Amino acid sequence: MQLELAPRQLDLFRTLRPEPARAALSREPLPTPAAEPKPKLLSRHEVLARARELGHRIAEALGPELKVHLSVHDNGSTMVSFRRQPPLLKVRVHHMFLDAPDQVVRAIADYAGRGVRKAGQVLDDYIASRQERIRALPRRPAPLQVRGRCFDLQALFDELNQRYFQGGIRARIGWGRQNGRRRRKSIRLGVYDHKAREIRLHPALDRPDVPRFFVEYIVFHEMLHQLFPSDRHTGRHVHHPRAFRDRERAFPRFEAALAWEKQHLHRLLRG
Ligand SMILES: [Zn+2]
Repeated sequence: MQLELAPRQLDLFRTLRPEPARAALSREPLPTPAAEPKPKLLSRHEVLARARELGHRIAEALGPELKVHLSVHDNGSTMVSFRRQPPLLKVRVHHMFLDAPDQVVRAIADYAGRGVRKAGQVLDDYIASRQERIRALPRRPAPLQVRGRCFDLQALFDELNQRYFQGGIRARIGWGRQNGRRRRKSIRLGVYDHKAREIRLHPALDRPDVPRFFVEYIVFHEMLHQLFPSDRHTGRHVHHPRAFRDRERAFPRFEAALAWEKQHLHRLLRG
């Protein structure tokens, strides 16, 4: 039996993470949903071991006359496909089949190896029952827009990271999407998503009349959220614990940034 696992396909198991939050931008960390089911993490080793076992099980069900070449994939379109070129049988299956019960493995063998069409029904049923799992599979995070018209957030982040954090903050950063609403009552200038390790800035900040130090301050603030996660005090989340506040005040233009925000907030609200 030959086994094929493209490295690209395995990326899936290293990048398990929720979809980037679409929540409105906020300078508060996103609340952590209490009971979110976690997709199962499989190491590359585990995936290989399971794929190898599945290949053996299919080969066993077919007998020695066919040589099984199995590959597994994680895309959602075709769950099972095969090419029969005796003595070789090439089978491509979705990851969901890695821990399929015997009946389903026999159905793969019948369907792909022996051309038993009605075995396809068993596979269809199994696929339908596992749709939940497919939906739960994490997607590759969408690339973030780092370059705005006025500010390159990655450059800004890297500079702050070196200057204030010894390069220790690990996060992605990007501009949030403009949501079209022009008139706002409040605006959330930045948000840090702990799970995704992702900082987003409100696009209203990407303007020539917004000073660089103010954008830096917002990024700095969001970076601090990684360093000082919110505290729980008698069941209440404290988003900016004492240590966070102290460290924030160490930002050289902290007072100036607050003053600028106070003075120009109305402009940012107009978008
Ligand atoms: Zn905050």
